[in-house]
Amino acid sequence: MTHHYTVLHGGTILTLEDALPSDAASRAAGDRGVPDAAGRRATAICYAHDRILAIGGDEEIRALAGPDSHVVDLRGRAVVPGFVEPHAHPYWEGFVAGIALIAGRERRAAIRAIPGAAEHLEPDTWLVARYDPTGWDRPDDPTRDDLDRAVPDRPVLLAHVSGHAVTANSLALALAGIAAGIPDQPGRMMIERDRTGEPTGIIRGPDAWDRLAAAMPPPTTAEGRAALARAAARLAADGVTSVADADVGATNGLSVELAAWAGAISSGEMPLAVALLPGLVRIAPAAGDRVPSPAEISAQLPEALRKRVRLTHLKLKADGALTTRTAWLCAPYADAPHAGGPVHDPATLVERVRGAVRAGWGLATHAIGDAAVAAVLDAYEMAPVPARPHRIEHAMLLDADLIERLAASRATAVVQPEFLTWAGATYRARLGEERAARLLPFAALLRAGIPMAFSSDRPVVAGSPLDGIRAALRHDAALSAAEALHAWTAAGGAALGDDEAGRLQVGHRADMAILSADPTTVPRNAWTRGGDGVAVLATIAGGRVVAGRMEGLA
Ligand SMILES: [Zn+2]
Repeated sequence: MTHHYTVLHGGTILTLEDALPSDAASRAAGDRGVPDAAGRRATAICYAHDRILAIGGDEEIRALAGPDSHVVDLRGRAVVPGFVEPHAHPYWEGFVAGIALIAGRERRAAIRAIPGAAEHLEPDTWLVARYDPTGWDRPDDPTRDDLDRAVPDRPVLLAHVSGHAVTANSLALALAGIAAGIPDQPGRMMIERDRTGEPTGIIRGPDAWDRLAAAMPPPTTAEGRAALARAAARLAADGVTSVADADVGATNGLSVELAAWAGAISSGEMPLAVALLPGLVRIAPAAGDRVPSPAEISAQLPEALRKRVRLTHLKLKADGALTTRTAWLCAPYADAPHAGGPVHDPATLVERVRGAVRAGWGLATHAIGDAAVAAVLDAYEMAPVPARPHRIEHAMLLDADLIERLAASRATAVVQPEFLTWAGATYRARLGEERAARLLPFAALLRAGIPMAFSSDRPVVAGSPLDGIRAALRHDAALSAAEALHAWTAAGGAALGDDEAGRLQVGHRADMAILSADPTTVPRNAWTRGGDGVAVLATIAGGRVVAGRMEGLA
């Protein structure tokens, strides 16, 4: 009977069981016996097949092992629940893992490097790449003229790393039918134009990518599956065991992407727990359209997968990004004479939220600027109560009033600490010092009782949860490592409505990561100065080692 048992002993098991979302209570008590945000600790854990069988002390757990069990001495290493990534773009991440990122320090050199990205492509095929101007000496987006000079002989489409803008050369614009007479769709697709009214190649807004990508030949199901396999390997290497795709359909449309997910899960190439958040505008394009229910979307998956894939929330966008100056602010940008604007006007946003809730969904609404967060909270207030709590994605620019309203709404804030290390300087330029200092007040959110889950929005940033912890602790001196760990585990499970994710408990899925050290005992200054040395040694999803190895943990 003991044949398949795996026993890990001699370490620290951070279960997150009985964890408080914030350490405030234990700090106030000044008592080591009061649980903190990382919950109960143990020293050993036993699992078999995909289930956790026992958690406890070394002696009692080692006694469960038989001659055929796999017994691993952790030698003081730490076991944490597998990290939960409630907002990522795995399909896009896998897709972009195969394309170039045009970045660097000098704009001119970056543009000169673009032809290199086309070297291995067949003649006439599209060159698709990403660009990240946040580090450039002159952070202006490349124009069609820049791209025509660099690559005149094939269509070129560059996606801004945030996903909130694209730039294309003349061939790509022509194939997508973007010309002088094509009108903007306010909030959704804004075509930048020169003095004569000709498109400059730069198109901003959430529909910009869709419009250009629709002109490209779609990928095959095998290519989609391969993209998800690449994403799964990267996520697993970072200790992630649950992942949510926060806008299914955004890259190649809902049916193409659902088919890829189905293929990757069935074949085992995607071994992580999966939640899919279809884009609301992709399943109900116009505001008055009937919204299909979760069961109707689930019916598009093979029957065997319907219980395996969580479908609880829809993704909706209320504004854009600070980096592209499309986030919707209450007061103008510090470096532009406007304040951004909404993707949907407030009345439409309310109608959208109502329609989705009536169809049985919760909403996960992207809101970065303070005006967008306020509009989303208004819409949530005016809609019926959802079956599962709503989420607000990013919730970056807040003030005391918005924090109070967010707490009252009971929505989960799904926030991205690594954004701050990636684009902190750009945020300061966009917002000025006073507003930039109010970005992402993690500890204040917890003290206000707001459920707060960390995520990365990868591939916007590299996305390792440990880097997220480093960024969060560097940004917010009032946040503890235990709180950061909670935000990457138990809170993420709660955001996804997945009881088994983010906590180690008997009977739960055996989803865990082995870390080189207990993150809650690493000194704070080691985290903030980058000398913590904490690394993921192995990742176990559903009882299978999906990254790293358990042998030789010393
Ligand atoms: Zn996102």
